[in-house]
Amino acid sequence: MVLAKGEVSEVKGLMLRGGRSVGGRYVADWRTFRPVVDASKCRKCWLCVMYCPEGAIGRGEEGAVIDLRFCKGCGICANECPAGAIEMVREE
Ligand code: SF4
Ligand code: SF4
Repeated sequence: MVLAKGEVSEVKGLMLRGGRSVGGRYVADWRTFRPVVDASKCRKCWLCVMYCPEGAIGRGEEGAVIDLRFCKGCGICANECPAGAIEMVREE
């Protein structure tokens, strides 16, 4: 199935979005933990942006910004952050 950029379709329980570089998957439903950024600690080194396997982290004015629609909760960003600015918290 080919989706146009920005088009959203549900396939086999996954939400797919065309134009997304890493499969375009909405993965939020898989997550048991989610990352929370403490902007006061963020040094804007952008290591988390480089390491995130889902491309879910952007460069914001105040620091890293995580798009939770695409975050699978792997915790790599929290592990790699040299400032301890990302905490993984359990989803409720
Ligand atoms: S790795 Fe940590 S300090 Fe660096 S941009 Fe990401 S949240 Fe900020
Ligand atoms: S928890 Fe994993 S998928 Fe989510 S933002 Fe961090 S590195 Fe990316």
